[in-house]
Amino acid sequence: MDSLSILKSNSLKVTECRMNLLELYKVLIEKGLDVEYSTVYRTINLFIQKGILTKYDMKDGKYYYKLRETHHTHKLKCEICQKEMQIECPLEEISQKIYKETGYSLDCKDIDLKAVCKGCKEKNGDKYNNQDK
Ligand SMILES: [Zn+2]
Ligand SMILES: [Zn+2]
Repeated sequence: MDSLSILKSNSLKVTECRMNLLELYKVLIEKGLDVEYSTVYRTINLFIQKGILTKYDMKDGKYYYKLRETHHTHKLKCEICQKEMQIECPLEEISQKIYKETGYSLDCKDIDLKAVCKGCKEKNGDKYNNQDK
């Protein structure tokens, strides 16, 4: 029986949420997983705690969840020679810290990191070497 028929045969209103949940449970049952609502609820909360999911309070009793993209990169650009490279996001921990302290979710995706590359640092001597400060 498809999700639509299941809802209808049980005189339940067909909503997108119910349809999706039924589809989701069908997959879980097919895989032979015994998943209870409380487990789903606990797992979602764990994901929020770990910062995998971010919960947004929409202020009208509704919540909106967003899956954080853990593997995004940032552009690292040398201020002197303009050479660019991509690095794995180094802001995950900072973002989690900010979230824990303030509840604000940092959206760092569009941040370009300004830097001075190794080559330019060597050319310019210690001027840009702030490592030992
Ligand atoms: Zn450079
Ligand atoms: Zn980032």
